[in-house]
Amino acid sequence: MTIDLKTLTISSVREMFKNGTLTSEELVQAYLDQINMKDKDINAFREVFADAIEQAKKADGIRKNNSTEAGNMPFLGIPFAVKDNMLIEGKQAGASSKILENYVGAYDATVISKLKNAGAIFIGRLNMDEFAMGGSTENSAYGVTKNPNDLSRVAGGSSGGSAASVAMDAVLVTLGSDTGGSIRQPASYCGVVGLKPTYGRVSRHGLMAMGSSLDVIGPISKTVEEAEEIFNVISGQDRYDATTLSDADVQRMIEKTSNINLKKLRVGIVPELMNMGGINPAVLKNLNDSIEKLKSAGVEVKEVSLPHIKYSLAVYYVLMPAEVSSNMARFDSIKYGGKVEGKDLLGDYLNTRGELLGKEVRRRIILGTYVLSSGYHDAYYNKANIVRDLISADFKKAYEEVDVILTPTAPSPAFKMGQNSSDPVAMYLEDIFTVTANLIGIPAISIPSGFVEIDEVNDNGEKIKLPLGIQFMAPLCREDVLFEIGKKFKAVL
Ligand code: GLN
Repeated sequence: MTIDLKTLTISSVREMFKNGTLTSEELVQAYLDQINMKDKDINAFREVFADAIEQAKKADGIRKNNSTEAGNMPFLGIPFAVKDNMLIEGKQAGASSKILENYVGAYDATVISKLKNAGAIFIGRLNMDEFAMGGSTENSAYGVTKNPNDLSRVAGGSSGGSAASVAMDAVLVTLGSDTGGSIRQPASYCGVVGLKPTYGRVSRHGLMAMGSSLDVIGPISKTVEEAEEIFNVISGQDRYDATTLSDADVQRMIEKTSNINLKKLRVGIVPELMNMGGINPAVLKNLNDSIEKLKSAGVEVKEVSLPHIKYSLAVYYVLMPAEVSSNMARFDSIKYGGKVEGKDLLGDYLNTRGELLGKEVRRRIILGTYVLSSGYHDAYYNKANIVRDLISADFKKAYEEVDVILTPTAPSPAFKMGQNSSDPVAMYLEDIFTVTANLIGIPAISIPSGFVEIDEVNDNGEKIKLPLGIQFMAPLCREDVLFEIGKKFKAVL
C-alpha cells in the first residue's frame, strides 16, 4: 500500500485508523522507509527507536480489542518524535551533546506521559543545537540538520530536527522547545507550523533546562489544527513543575482580555520594528503580502508602537546566558554524563567541561558568569530585567488596541550552512523577532506564509524555493487567538 505522507494530518490518520484503511504499523513502516531514504542527507534524527514498530502494533492491538479504552485515547497509534532534550523512560536523551552521550532517561517527561496516556507512540529523537543553544543545529555535536527544501542550507534551530522531520514527511508531528525562538524559527525555515505556548502552560518536568525563565515546550506540525490538538493534550498544571499555571491562574489571565472577539480579531503591526533595517527584502514583501491577505479576509490591521522592543535581543542575550551558566553547573562530571579525568577535582571539571561541551555552550557559560559576577550584576543582569518589564508594559498597552501582533518569524529565509558560523552576533540577529515572546511569557505561533524563489537550481534543475513564515503573538494564555488567526490566514493563503 502506498501512503501519501504529504497530506496526512492527525485527524485524517485517525479517520483512516477508525475505518480500517490504515494501521499504525503500516504508517510507522512508511515513516521508517522515508527516514531510510532521506535522513542520510538531512540528518534530522539522532536515533530511530528500535521498538517503533512494536509500539505501533501494541496501539493497533488496543484499537482492535478494546473500543472504550481506545475511545479515550485521541492519539492512539499516532507517531511522534521528540527533540533530544526531553526524557523518555528507558531511551537515550543527550541534548545533542557529547557530555550526555549514552545518557538514558530514568522517567518520562510530563509531556511524554501525557502523550502516552493519549495513546501516542514515539518513533525517535531529533537533532538540535547542543543544549538548545543556537539557531541552525550547526552547534549539534552530531552534525548539522539540513533543510529539506535546499540541502545547502540549515533547517534552523535549535529544534531543527523537529521541524525538518515534519517537513520531509518522516514523522507526523513532533515536539520542540523554545527559549528564544527555537520552535518558531526552524518551523519557518522548513515551511511548517510551530507553537510556543505561554510560559508555564506546559510542564517542563523532564526537559533539560536552558533558560529557566524562558523555556517552553510546544508542537511542530503541518497544520494549525494539529498544533492546537497537541497543545490541548500537553498543557496543564503539573505538581512536578512549580512554574506551571493552575486552571484558576489561566482563567484569571483570560478574563483580563475578555473583550477579545474571536470573530473580529484586530491585528497589530509594528512599523518601528520593520523599519530598523537588516531585514531581507523578500521577507518584508512577504509580510506586506500577508497583511493584504489578512485584510482581504476582513481582518482589521493597524499600527501599534512598541518603543522598547528594539532592546529585546540585547536583553535576551544578557538574561539567557546568565540562566544558562547556572543551569549548566550541574554538568560537573559527577552527577551526570561523561567525565574526562584530571589530576584533581578542579582538573576533572576543567577537562570534562572543556572537552565535552561545544564552543557555543562554553561561550554562553562564560558570558553568563560574567554578567552575574559581583560588580557587573547590577550593570547587566539587573538592568536587563528592568528593560524586560518595560517591554512587557509596552505590550500591555498595545493589547488595549489590538488582539494579536504580527511580525515575520525571522529576518531572512533559511541561510547557507556555515554562513553565520564565524560571527556569533550575525547568528544572534536571526532571533530578533522571536525572543520578545519568551522575555514576556506570551504565546506565539509561526505559520507558513509562502515561498521565495532564489536564483539557484536543485539537482533536478528546478529553481529553489525557500519557505517563509509569519509570527503572531497573543496576550498571555490566549493561544485560542493564535489558533483562530492562524486558521483564518491559512484559509486565504
Ligand atoms: N536561537 C536562540 C538562541 O540561540 C534561541 C534558542 C532556543 O530557543 N533554544 O539562544
